[in-house]
Amino acid sequence: MTTDTTVTELNTAAAILAAIEDPSGREIHDPATGEIVGRTGEGSPADIDAAVAAARKAQPAWAARTSQERSELLNKAADAIEASAEALAELLSREQGKPLNGPNARFEVGACAAWLRANASFELEPEVLVDDGETHAELYYRPVGVVGAVGPWNWPMMISVWQFAPSLKMGNTVVLKPSEYTPLSVQALVAVVNQVLPADVLAAVPGDGAVGAALTSHADVDKIMFTGSTKTGQAIMRTAADNLARITLELGGNDAGIVLDDADPAQIAGDLFWGAFINTGQTCAAMKRLYVPESLYDQVCQALVEVAGQSPMGVGLEEENVLGPLQNKQQYDIVARLVEAAKDGGARVLMGGDPVADQPGFFYPTTLVADIDNDNPLVAEEQFGPVLPIIKYTDLDQAVEWANELEVGLGSSVWGTDLDACRQVAARLEAGTTWINKHGAVDPRVPFGGVKKSGFGLEFGLEGLKHVSIPQVISW
Ligand code: NAD
Repeated sequence: MTTDTTVTELNTAAAILAAIEDPSGREIHDPATGEIVGRTGEGSPADIDAAVAAARKAQPAWAARTSQERSELLNKAADAIEASAEALAELLSREQGKPLNGPNARFEVGACAAWLRANASFELEPEVLVDDGETHAELYYRPVGVVGAVGPWNWPMMISVWQFAPSLKMGNTVVLKPSEYTPLSVQALVAVVNQVLPADVLAAVPGDGAVGAALTSHADVDKIMFTGSTKTGQAIMRTAADNLARITLELGGNDAGIVLDDADPAQIAGDLFWGAFINTGQTCAAMKRLYVPESLYDQVCQALVEVAGQSPMGVGLEEENVLGPLQNKQQYDIVARLVEAAKDGGARVLMGGDPVADQPGFFYPTTLVADIDNDNPLVAEEQFGPVLPIIKYTDLDQAVEWANELEVGLGSSVWGTDLDACRQVAARLEAGTTWINKHGAVDPRVPFGGVKKSGFGLEFGLEGLKHVSIPQVISW
């Protein structure tokens, strides 16, 4: 931990809010209670112009530092986050809704520091590609320049770090546009980190989709990193064509998990549950459809009901809770509509399934749905809530076909005791990542990205660094 006094100044949520709030700005409400969390400024396309111009100006000096110097600053940024960790987690919990405990707010803030440290430890060395006496060819990775990054509301801090940590490591400067639902979390994180970074290397401009579009269509942005819905990703890709900006798209998912018939339901139940319900299901790479063989069906359903029953949902700042509200009304309505569609289709609700009336906040109860058809909208659409449909199968080939038939392919998982059998099924699944006996377990050392309409480009690890660099060959 650093002893630099500036790093400990922003160590309460009130101090952070005082540094970032716009007193005449838009009210942000706690999705658990409806209380006002703070007020955010609303950026404009002119603010994007100014931030991009400042980032452009700051970039050569940032790139001129040695890679080791940049790593030292990324590690200091991680120190600053750790020094403010409780304050950041509180603010994140109040704005996003996620509980402090469980794989939620404290976990997210911890991941921010971990991703910074991991990127600080990576080094993309030049490569000698050919050296045969006649030809010598070397490959270098240069900074792209200015990165424009737009993010979603589900993991606002962590996804911002996923975007800016590798970008900064490679000598780029970054302008972030946070989701309009969670601007304070990202502005808070940036304020904390900017205590140690040079001016204009990293900035956040709050605003809506139009402000995002001003960034992603900006002629002076060299690389776009976007995490959000497939529809927005498609719109961004269209405008990126005008500037031929490089682009990484991390888009929607609808991840399948397949349980094999040698799995032990009692042993996997906890990981199955959290693979689906992490962040109250509001996770791009959460399990959204679970395929279970007939022979284990009742046991798996029962084991999931038991874990769910031991996982309290409530206001995020109350320590006992591990599940929270949906972040916004729009998402709540989508989840409620899809569960109604399941009921209309004759599915059996094992628990939950009815919106809680007369309660403040966007709480949708933990819901497990059995005996549901694979083509029901609850299975086929990205529902992004605390709901898991459990689909029975009798033929593994059919389960694999169902898993692959959607347009998206972010994550997937296979569950069983025979690792080779799991691997063989994994190889048949169309997804950027297939986990075995876990789901959604991202690691800063391991590349992550989607296939099909879940996007393209990779984040994390050395592959992640390559995606925020431009290759240059020097040959003689
Ligand atoms: P969204 O696409 O509605 O919004 C994401 C961001 O894009 C917001 O900041 C928004 O203001 C901005 N935006 C909207 N229109 C824009 C435009 N035309 N140009 C530029 N920016 C624009 O997504 P969301 O509802 O905030 O997030 C949920 C979605 O994100 C889900 O589909 C989820 O699966 C996906 N997601 C994917 C990953 C991943 O790593 N693949 C991670 C988290 C979330």
